[in-house]
Amino acid sequence: MAWYSQYLVMIHKPFHRISGKNSSASFSESITPELRIIQYKEHGLIRNNISPCATKVTLDLQEAGYSAFIVGGAVRDLLLGLKPKDFDIVTNAKPEEIRALFRRSRIIGRRFRLVHVMCGSDTVEVSTFRGDSFTNKNGKSTPHQHADEHGRILRDNVFGSQEEDVKRRDFTVNALFYDPDREEIWDYLCGYGDIKSKQLRIIGTPLQRYREDPIRILRAIRLAAKLDMKIDAATAQPIGELAPLLQNVPPSRLFDEVLKILLCGYAQICVADLRSRGLYHGLLPILDMIATESVDERFISLVLKSTDERVQQEKSVSPGFLFAALLWHGVLVAWNKRMAAGEKSFPALHMAIKDLMEAQEKRLVIPRRYDAVMQEIWAMQPRFLGRSGRRPFRLLEHPRFRAAYDFMLLRCESGEIDIELGNWWKKFQNAKTSEQESMLFRNEVPRKRRKRGRRNEAVAVDTQSIGSTLGPTE
Ligand code: ATP
Ligand code: MG
Repeated sequence: MAWYSQYLVMIHKPFHRISGKNSSASFSESITPELRIIQYKEHGLIRNNISPCATKVTLDLQEAGYSAFIVGGAVRDLLLGLKPKDFDIVTNAKPEEIRALFRRSRIIGRRFRLVHVMCGSDTVEVSTFRGDSFTNKNGKSTPHQHADEHGRILRDNVFGSQEEDVKRRDFTVNALFYDPDREEIWDYLCGYGDIKSKQLRIIGTPLQRYREDPIRILRAIRLAAKLDMKIDAATAQPIGELAPLLQNVPPSRLFDEVLKILLCGYAQICVADLRSRGLYHGLLPILDMIATESVDERFISLVLKSTDERVQQEKSVSPGFLFAALLWHGVLVAWNKRMAAGEKSFPALHMAIKDLMEAQEKRLVIPRRYDAVMQEIWAMQPRFLGRSGRRPFRLLEHPRFRAAYDFMLLRCESGEIDIELGNWWKKFQNAKTSEQESMLFRNEVPRKRRKRGRRNEAVAVDTQSIGSTLGPTE
């Protein structure tokens, strides 16, 4: 779903607390787009790297007499030699006209309607040029657009010209239009030069553009890390000061952006940058949780490092696994506390998970769909300690074994538990059955002694009682 259909925001704090300045002049007055058309011989963008669906839809629109371009992140990424995540098309055709042209298409979005066009298994998003009517000279919203008292746009549903559309985009490097027929890049705001000099520059007055949509602050940090660009000085300057505005962004939109940060392949750099700009505490609840409650920084940086590596190798990453890891320290602390108070290890773990889930429901806004994976990964951890009888075999067959195993390895790597356990499981998985049998622990410490001796250590749990609680015993 396009960013501009997600503006609805909640308002809590008056803007003058964040900045004393009065800031309502229309930013569009300060920008005069000047078109420069860049030919193939200069930009060298290889048309074959564009999704055939995006090219076809753009050419079909042009053939039907409309103006149509590939726009935004895809053009930027191709110029930087990166693989675009998605392809967006922009046109002067209205949603109904686009819909009428493509049999396999549907109009989506209520406030700002756009069209999804399908070719085979591919989908491209086609939107109509957006208008420039924003706040007027007195800072009042026009009939079509509504901004709150902070300047944040609540609704933005006006169609416009290409020159107007370009000014509504966030950064100059995201405002290039590519015509696949003529192989031309249309550059109104010197975005091409900024790509070449690796400068991330916001379009218009930085203060005002962040107030319109504070998510742009996070986009700046993510894109700078992902594209290896420097945030231009004027673009970077108000970021720290405006950070509190992020609190008014709807939690689901904030969550989406935080997830993008965590899964962009450069999460470690982003998190470090967020910290250095003062965007870490009291701002993004999930990141705040990572910073304050996870004393074990090593575990977190290992998790982010391995996530970055997986994303960069184009391997899949499960957000449920990631959240399980980011919140693990909270579970561990609560688990230990309960055991220290005399609770048995498995019920203690179970209650620790329950408490954490309840607390995070209020604070972290992690969608419920991730709950099951997180809880399962956590609850399976003690089962890796059961290395006798049929237990290891049963664990291997568990549908979530792989995730729980990877998680356990991270715990070993961070030094939380003994690496010997990780090595044993690594070997056990790959061994032949006869070898597996010989690896099994035969003389486990009698139940009572073990329980008493390890009462205060969450990681060294009572394997006998866990085995019998989590699965059938042999
Ligand atoms: P990526 O897809 O790699 O996350 P992107 O720039 O393509 O980066 P999208 O969310 O796909 O991000 O957005 C497509 C385009 O829409 C952007 O390139 C930009 O022109 C515009 N855009 C996205 N978000 C905003 C925003 N918050 N404010 C203004 N323009 C935006
Ligand atoms: Mg994109």
